[in-house]
Amino acid sequence: MQRVPSGQLQVAKVEGKELGVIAQSFSEAGWASCTVRLLRTFSWDAKERAFELVDFKLEEGSDLIAVCGPYATADAAAFNVDAEMDVGFPEREDYDGVLYLVHGQPAIANDRYQDAAAWIVLSGKGLDGKDRFVSLALEKSNTQLVHMSVEDQQLNISLILPKQIYPISACSELIDLPQMQIRTGLGDIESAHAVLREMILQAIPTRARNYSAPLIVDTWGFGTNVNQALVSSVANTAKDLELEVLTIDKGWENIVGDWRPGPHFEDGMPGLAEITARSGTRLGLWASLGNADPLSTVAIEHPDWIASWRGKPQVVSHRTSSLCMGHGPVIEYLAGQLANLANNGLTWLLHDFETISRCDSDIHDHPQGLGEDWAVRGWYRLLAEFRENFSDVWIENCWNGGRPLDLQMVAHHDTTIGDDFCDVRHNAVAKVGLGRYLPAHWCSSYMSDQNSLTLRSQLAIYAVGGPWILMGDIPNWSAEKLSLAKRVMSVYRSWRLMFPNGSVRWAQLSGWQADSRWRADQEVLAISFVHESGSELMACVVTQQLENPEFRWHPVLKGALRITDEFTGESRDYDESEVVAGIAISGTTAEGHLFSAVAI
Ligand SMILES: [Zn+2]
Repeated sequence: MQRVPSGQLQVAKVEGKELGVIAQSFSEAGWASCTVRLLRTFSWDAKERAFELVDFKLEEGSDLIAVCGPYATADAAAFNVDAEMDVGFPEREDYDGVLYLVHGQPAIANDRYQDAAAWIVLSGKGLDGKDRFVSLALEKSNTQLVHMSVEDQQLNISLILPKQIYPISACSELIDLPQMQIRTGLGDIESAHAVLREMILQAIPTRARNYSAPLIVDTWGFGTNVNQALVSSVANTAKDLELEVLTIDKGWENIVGDWRPGPHFEDGMPGLAEITARSGTRLGLWASLGNADPLSTVAIEHPDWIASWRGKPQVVSHRTSSLCMGHGPVIEYLAGQLANLANNGLTWLLHDFETISRCDSDIHDHPQGLGEDWAVRGWYRLLAEFRENFSDVWIENCWNGGRPLDLQMVAHHDTTIGDDFCDVRHNAVAKVGLGRYLPAHWCSSYMSDQNSLTLRSQLAIYAVGGPWILMGDIPNWSAEKLSLAKRVMSVYRSWRLMFPNGSVRWAQLSGWQADSRWRADQEVLAISFVHESGSELMACVVTQQLENPEFRWHPVLKGALRITDEFTGESRDYDESEVVAGIAISGTTAEGHLFSAVAI
């Protein structure tokens, strides 16, 4: 990568093409080898890819460019076609707006540009033979490139603002350039992760560092076909299950952009507050504050507030438009809408869709070329002021299924979604993917009714980490499912106090071999919550009959343990040699399992 001066700034140039303004640089000499580990977050643009960690060996003289930010999967795909390719939004007639891909395909292993969460570890050997690492995390949610290379045994990392979104000539108007936090040290990749985890923990708001992950029911299992009577029926079952939050997903609103209950909620906010109070739940509402239906009053009265990109409004999630959050009056309007909800019973805000707009309009408050940067600032301001004024309202990040992830996004939320598939397998992968970086109480999982699976298989993994969000048709659950759910929920309730001080990871197995990347389509998905004391809660789903009649689980703790089958309540004490040999699990039937292991 070359650096070309441009006024007070420097521009990154790769193979003769300008990438954009360099916001920050880091170099360290003495690297003999280096591997980059990225976390891919969920994206509907690459939904089969699941939530995964991917490692890239950084060869001498080669480079890798991580693309971070709200539209990263589509952006990386475009840049892989051509580093100077413009980015845009699809314009197909049948387009429902949850996809952003216009050019190319989602990144695969050998591509230069890789979409990733905005935190990265690099680990390898120094010339002295010692293990060394760099852990880095981006401060902000802007679209940014992290260019990484090793040249002449020097590791170089540059943070770049891609010129397609931040024109080089506009960057001199930036109030400040986005930055990354960087820590270096001696140690292996586990040391790197531990340091990165500490950086992320420091960003989590104080109130969200050590809470008891709630049990939530959300109405998305019914789609947008919701009304007051349905919510009342869901609330009745929520009371029976002793759930703690009831969030009404898309469909409660009058119209996207006008954040008050529609006429199908005949008693309005007081009615919803009454229903949730009666069921012992807190009232949660879904909102896509960054969007407006073209037929909404706000869009009709303020067409000038709509974000535009290359001269056109974007068609985004559910065929809505983006509101430009970089435009002051939009933030004032949204703050008023949110305050009205919070003053009338809202205690849990689930926010979704395009909360960071991409805009190059020349009639807004922001400089024309810096719409996304100002939108990020506007969004933070809206959330920060809302949190300050309504400190009892908790905020869940959904963002069209789970991005972006960076320090400021974490700092403005109380939990984040892992995966948008509402599927046991994908949730298991997401719990582990996020579990590397976040404590076990900070990764929401959406559980749907997966009636092709046994009841145990449907329920087991949701005991491991939280918040646990039920999205099925709970009023019509069978007595058997309700009973089993209550049992698993009681396990969740007794373990969740430990979630902030532990993490979710793959359980150790023998007798069955995962492929090297642990994907959602495997025959066995086995995940463990491991508390810092070593106590372990392990959920395992065997998705099909295996060749081996049994395989074995090896708890993290070695020594005498009490192993409890949490589905039957049966406990058995194992001595040290039995623990080392492992706990047998049947592979003869597709079934879910839930075991705990504690020292005796
Ligand atoms: Zn704008």
